[in-house]
Amino acid sequence: MTFSSFAPGRVELLGNHTDYNEGVILSAAINLGITAVGNPRSDHRINLSSSGNPDATVVGDPAMFEPSHGWANYPLGVVKTLTLAGHSIRGFEAHFESNLPTGTGLSSSAALEVAAGSLLRKMFALDIEPMELARICRRAENDFVGVNCGLLDPASSVFGRRDHAIFLDCRTESLTLIPIPSGAALLLIHSGVKHELTGGEYNNRREACFAAAAQLGIPALRDTTSPAVEISNLPDEIKRRALHITGENERVFHAADFLRAGDLVSFGRLMTASHESSRVNFENSTPELDTLVKLAVATDGIYGARLTGGGFGGAIVALADPDLMDEASESIISRYHALTAHQGIAYRCTIGDGAILAA
Ligand code: ADP
Ligand code: MG
Repeated sequence: MTFSSFAPGRVELLGNHTDYNEGVILSAAINLGITAVGNPRSDHRINLSSSGNPDATVVGDPAMFEPSHGWANYPLGVVKTLTLAGHSIRGFEAHFESNLPTGTGLSSSAALEVAAGSLLRKMFALDIEPMELARICRRAENDFVGVNCGLLDPASSVFGRRDHAIFLDCRTESLTLIPIPSGAALLLIHSGVKHELTGGEYNNRREACFAAAAQLGIPALRDTTSPAVEISNLPDEIKRRALHITGENERVFHAADFLRAGDLVSFGRLMTASHESSRVNFENSTPELDTLVKLAVATDGIYGARLTGGGFGGAIVALADPDLMDEASESIISRYHALTAHQGIAYRCTIGDGAILAA
């Protein structure tokens, strides 16, 4: 018997670097993702294939991390994590097909894990709640692949819903879906400059946030507000880092209210304000991302735009009117090329279903 699953990529709409500060985030699953098709075997052999990637075969203990398995370590990590959680998994075949670009901040790694996890859940009739599936995928990436990602990526890929934003509280790990008024599409534009989330810059920002919380005498930046940080005597640079986080949390709460009220214009303004805070306070933008945002917000049909993901390169996300998106996208890309000589790459997305709703 053949089984299948689909797991989408996700876009961070608002809430930049708030995860490790125990803050809040708004994201959305997109209509691009990874499909998995497979069937169980009667032995303990695992055969994995993915279009455009080398095949991988594992016999016996899937728990062995092998650098030579490359991409297959993501699904094998899920197998191992499921096994450690007490689920019984035999051999199987699985093939993955993707229309999601990798390494652009759309979280193809989480999509791959969730596609694998949800395929295995069906194939072996595993008794796993959706949130547990998201946690297992996070653990697979943390422990098995060795990347310290949060719950947002796998949870968005599991729980996303067409025309809904996902509100995640990273402290309580509770998740709420908020309808997005019809008439909203997402335009992602990669700057054409490689996403360089080097450990150095990322860790430096994390440490500044933790130092700010320690100096303010609070457990995490979640526990303070922008006005309180403003009047604190934190040194200038650390104060700006902290203001980015408190501002992002505040913008996420306001943006959720705007969505509930169907106000895309105000939501878009907060996205643009988020980018400005990245540029000035957190200094995780780049001249190319700044140019893209500036061009996007001056274009008809764009409600707002900001860098998405870690920063220091990568992509912007713009909230767009679907009827004007194609024209807007072409205009931004051509003006961006004229100004910077970089070739931006546009992905026109809609907000789609996560793995539990998709076929
Ligand atoms: P992101 O999650 O932002 O796309 P990552 O570096 O975290 O970037 O994950 C990208 C990696 O995930 C790829 O290098 C590859 O190993 C794996 N991957 C993603 N999609 C696929 C796919 N369709 N087939 C095989 N491997 C994939
Ligand atoms: Mg990833």
